[in-house]
Amino acid sequence: MTSAEIRQSFLDFFARHGHTIVPSASLLPDSPGLLFTNAGMNQFVPIFLGDRAPDVASWAGALPAKNTRAADTQKCIRAGGKHNDLEDVGYDTYHHTMFEMLGNWSFGDYFKQDSLTWGWELITKVWGIPAKRLFATVYAPDKTKGDPSDFDQEAYDIWAGLFRAEGLDPAVHIVNGNKKDNFWMMGDTGPCGPCSEIHFNLLPSDDESAGRQLVNASSPRCIEIWNHVFIQFNANADGTFSPLAAKHVDTGMGFERVAGIYATTNGFTDFTKDPSNYAADVFAPSFRKIAELSGHTYHATVPTKREGLTEQENIDVAFRVLADHARCVSCAIADSILPGNEGRNYVIRRILRRGILYGKKLGLAPGFFEQLVAPVVESLGAVFPELVSQQEVIRRVIRGEEESFGRTLDRGLSIFNSQTAHLTAVAVPGALAFELYDTYGFPLDMTQLLATERGLTVDTGEFERLMGQQRERARAAHKKDILVAATEGDASEIFEASLFTGYVVDTEKPVAA
Ligand code: ATP
Ligand code: MG
Ligand code: MG
Ligand code: MG
Repeated sequence: MTSAEIRQSFLDFFARHGHTIVPSASLLPDSPGLLFTNAGMNQFVPIFLGDRAPDVASWAGALPAKNTRAADTQKCIRAGGKHNDLEDVGYDTYHHTMFEMLGNWSFGDYFKQDSLTWGWELITKVWGIPAKRLFATVYAPDKTKGDPSDFDQEAYDIWAGLFRAEGLDPAVHIVNGNKKDNFWMMGDTGPCGPCSEIHFNLLPSDDESAGRQLVNASSPRCIEIWNHVFIQFNANADGTFSPLAAKHVDTGMGFERVAGIYATTNGFTDFTKDPSNYAADVFAPSFRKIAELSGHTYHATVPTKREGLTEQENIDVAFRVLADHARCVSCAIADSILPGNEGRNYVIRRILRRGILYGKKLGLAPGFFEQLVAPVVESLGAVFPELVSQQEVIRRVIRGEEESFGRTLDRGLSIFNSQTAHLTAVAVPGALAFELYDTYGFPLDMTQLLATERGLTVDTGEFERLMGQQRERARAAHKKDILVAATEGDASEIFEASLFTGYVVDTEKPVAA
């Protein structure tokens, strides 16, 4: 199967089971508390909260089936905010900033039995993943930590039946997990419930007990592929949990993880190679382009540490980071999240600047990043048509960003290098990180990245203190501008200029003073 066929077979499978196939929601979430859409369920929250009737069959562009069952592939970004996978991207092979989450939902319709049984049928029968290589986790509260509710016996029993039917021992294949991994809450109050996840043993041998030890242990040889959340309680303000009248199912599967494992294992048959999402053909056009532009070859090595990487490890990390970041930035811009100075816009700028830095490490010529847009459109345009219609805008925005950052990047790097050359085992001064941020546009995490590569940390306390002082100065300058404007007539121009001092480089000299 190609990646596209894997995605389509997921959707077809759930369509056959009466699900309405809905389009991915925008990466720009409806909810004010969220930086980016970070899970398939985000767009369905009003239904779970009972604020909206389950009416998915009427959603624009959807293939109508039942109102109470939906499935889709959802663009997600997990960078910045509560879910932040940015630091792992490129250094591991299965966390992206932007990824597709395949999901199926029941709104007060089917529950654990159907969700787990269908999920099992899809991955073991339709796709042919060997059952022997799978583990299921079920919720087992750690009462010493005050975890809510009870052991999820219902999920356990369903799993036990499914494993036994394959001649496998439930005591080996079912793993307990406490609140941290196996209980989902939207917030301190509201709909919540236990979840049950499927993990894939990717050890070269199919040693079940060795694989079991790796479940939820951050190992690339045993990774989580699918989370089934059972929304069955309401968390009350007094800390108690009451059963919901209508119970719901919310699942999420990492599309690139399945497609990558499929590719590296030759259709789930040969487990000798290191598994990697980047082996999926959905990344192939980007990798081809990066190789063509840089003249380097990707060898799929994965470093075990963050400093002292070999030349090839550095090259391979850079390939993965660039392919990932180009997807993320392109999809964000297509959904109107432009690089900027605050909030989610600043996260996108940081990701883009990081990408530019890694391109530089590969020796790519300035202005290269916009050339990575076409391969993203080639691989994802058929699924997310906004990439096709917005392609020119995406390129233009990236071009502008690259031009402005390109003017200060080299100078900033040489300052960083000269001022840290003598440092060993101490923190990079906060004042240097601040200067790089303020004058050369280096996001703090980029300076931290450069520091980590040299085995150093950054004095973030000092950096924050200097940031606070700068904000104070900007505020004072802003106040003064408004006073001047009020006494001198037309405020609009001055007001705009003074607003700009909030984020231009030199706040020592306020524009309209
Ligand atoms: P992990 O423990 O591997 O970080 P998670 O528990 O944070 O995953 P969930 O919130 O349960 O992930 O999301 C559902 C599914 O989405 C996961 O089972 C996984 O397959 C996929 N997924 C989660 N985060 C990422 C990511 N950063 N990149 C790619 N796929 C991801
Ligand atoms: Mg995670
Ligand atoms: Mg997890
Ligand atoms: Mg999970």
